[in-house]
Amino acid sequence: MPAATAAFENSCRRGAKAIERPLVITEDDALTHIFGSVKPLPSKRLPLAQARAKFAAQDIFARIALPLFDNSAMDGYAVVASSCRAGQSQRVVGQQPAGTDRKLRIAPGEAIRIFTGAPMPEGADAVVMQEDVRREGSEIFIDAEVEAGEFVRRRGSDLVEGQKILGAGERIQSQTLALLAAQGFVDVEVGGDVRAAVVTTGDELIQPGGSPEEGQIHESNSTLLRALCERWGAAVATVAHCPDEAPSLEAALRTGLEHDVLIIVGGVSVGARDLVKPALSSVGAQTDLWRVSVKPGKPFLFGRAGRCAIFGLPGNPVSAFVTFLLFVRPAILRMMGANESELTLPTYEAQLAGEVQNPSDRPHYVRGQVARGKFTPVGRQESHALYGLSRANALLRVPPGEIFPGGATVAIFALD
Ligand code: AMP
Ligand code: MG
Repeated sequence: MPAATAAFENSCRRGAKAIERPLVITEDDALTHIFGSVKPLPSKRLPLAQARAKFAAQDIFARIALPLFDNSAMDGYAVVASSCRAGQSQRVVGQQPAGTDRKLRIAPGEAIRIFTGAPMPEGADAVVMQEDVRREGSEIFIDAEVEAGEFVRRRGSDLVEGQKILGAGERIQSQTLALLAAQGFVDVEVGGDVRAAVVTTGDELIQPGGSPEEGQIHESNSTLLRALCERWGAAVATVAHCPDEAPSLEAALRTGLEHDVLIIVGGVSVGARDLVKPALSSVGAQTDLWRVSVKPGKPFLFGRAGRCAIFGLPGNPVSAFVTFLLFVRPAILRMMGANESELTLPTYEAQLAGEVQNPSDRPHYVRGQVARGKFTPVGRQESHALYGLSRANALLRVPPGEIFPGGATVAIFALD
């Protein structure tokens, strides 16, 4: 039995008192389990215009050398470098525009008027830019030194035929698309699309646009989760809002399970109104792990039903945010065919503006702002405190019991 599952079973056996007991599922155990459960979706071919931010489904090799032929990097004159001594003129014997190869050739002492991207005439080994040339009739005088190879773009100097230009699992950037186009490709095989369903739970929630009555709040997590899913490449195909009531929750879960990913938010804690776990079991889904040692985000749940990966995120907005980044994001990327190096959140180094400590027994993801290389925690560091989160551009993971002194250099997770 995997460690994470064993830990979950233990916490179930302990019953309602489990909240008092030390948590045994670490972030790493949870991620290992999740990665063991989600697989890349079948790949598909997409026109280049639709492939940005997808992941290459296979290695791609250059069909042609780039540049494809020796050509001029400048508007100027193609010459034989060794014959260009100071004060000596060169005779212009022809013109070579871009777009057609006139198959011209020159001898020492001769020059060809040439333009950027035009094929080099045979015998020429350098281009003198027109700014460095004085032309008198059909003669040119060159003021500067000319070196062989100057302003010539050699065939294959950028890349050679057969060279690997994109690896399976690499993210396709705008500039990757440009390279594929330059290679003559019109489409590319990419990882499959991830379709997600979001289910929110809570009697207290009303939709933005309405006016909350006493005790009600605007529902904000579906807005957060849609944006996060789209940011990381998954489409949110359906959003359902459920009161804390089993029948409507079960109906929403059944629909949600038809997707690649089901994200349920709220109702995964230990309260009497936290109905997600029993509802999942009523609809035939299995819960693999519940409660992870992170702050915020402890009540996180992961399970499966058929091909659907199920994530139960705590309802507090910061908890939902942090657990999405830690667990849902890498799972989505893996389904999209991303390679290992894409799965970890990008980090960079920053200096702490002041001391940051974590007296708790769980790793704390502190929300902060990085400006000019300095990290400063922002707003209240509690799981409901959405304002601070909205101002944050970085997360700092502080291990349990750790005290980072002011000025320390730490690794920061970059946020959008
Ligand atoms: P829960 O995880 O259901 O116990 O909810 C924890 C806290 O998050 C409560 O204060 C809820 O009102 C709040 N909450 C739960 N779901 C949402 C949501 N979709 N939007 C905004 N706040 C929520
Ligand atoms: Mg709730």
